[in-house]
Amino acid sequence: MNFILINWVKYYTKEAFKTLKLVTIGSAIIITMVCIKYKPVYKVTISGETIGFVYNEEIIKAKIDKYINDTTGNIAFREISELPEYELQLIDRDKETQEKEIMLAIDNLTTTTYKTYAITSNGEQKAIVSSQEEAENIINEIKTNLNENIDLKLGVADVYSTEYKVTTLEEAKNTLNTLKTEKVTEYETKKAEEEKAAQAALEAQKAKINMTKSIAVATPVAPTGSINGMALSIPVNGSISSRFGARSGSRSSAHTGLDISTSKGTGIRAISAGTVVYAGYKGSYGNLIIVDHGNGVQSYYAHCNALYVSAGQSVDSSTTIAAVGSTGNSTGPHLHLEIRINGSPVNPQNYLY
Ligand SMILES: [Zn+2]
Repeated sequence: MNFILINWVKYYTKEAFKTLKLVTIGSAIIITMVCIKYKPVYKVTISGETIGFVYNEEIIKAKIDKYINDTTGNIAFREISELPEYELQLIDRDKETQEKEIMLAIDNLTTTTYKTYAITSNGEQKAIVSSQEEAENIINEIKTNLNENIDLKLGVADVYSTEYKVTTLEEAKNTLNTLKTEKVTEYETKKAEEEKAAQAALEAQKAKINMTKSIAVATPVAPTGSINGMALSIPVNGSISSRFGARSGSRSSAHTGLDISTSKGTGIRAISAGTVVYAGYKGSYGNLIIVDHGNGVQSYYAHCNALYVSAGQSVDSSTTIAAVGSTGNSTGPHLHLEIRINGSPVNPQNYLY
């Protein structure tokens, strides 16, 4: 009995080992075959779309991380719209992993913002360079030998853009040099104009002084006549061109004064002391001065080119009151002298000339 049992156990043990051996060999063959054909990799997907395969999830993650946080050069920052997902799987051994392609896909999903530096004039961007130092160097170069009265209002401004765009240093310098030349020309033109205007004003001033001087010599002040015991002197030297009472085509009635022709600008003096009661433009008289001498006597000086006194002013026979001209109803430079007694014109040649 024992012998049978032992033989039976022996037989089954032997069979079990045989089966185990077969299973082991079979499994080994299958595993070997799988390993020959396939390899374990990470499938990388973005929005469910496969962008490639990598062996090591950590390495690619670190690489992407480094790329996104890169701030070298002019990169201010990077933003990625979506991060990839990883899934372990077996793929054909003959398929290659695609790290390069993955990084390209990441790059396409990333927006890079660059920081550059604008050289500004009066707040307006003139050139963009890649560093603050370059911008400052150019500004300093432009400011060298620049007239201190010319302010180009230069400055540096940070520029953030998703496009990396800079001006070459040469272009930047050219642009700013052109601006400098423009401003210098503008300044010099303005300065020249101001100097010219100042010179003209000075000469006008001189001419006025000279004219006043020449007037002073031109007319004698000595009295040559009188009204009611009041001494009178001639207002201007010249030739009589129209007498009192004369009639002519240019006048509607008899001449109410005496015309003394002389060159334009010649100084006119008051015939005697009195008060200016009118100084201004008056119809056919043109520029007119009326001086009241008291005792009902007034003198009129008409067609003047310029008036030197104003109403209310006291004058005497040494005062230059106006300059000879041809304003109003006049055909050439002359003084129309009118003397009125109690408002009525009298013949000036009864007293003067
Ligand atoms: Zn006249």
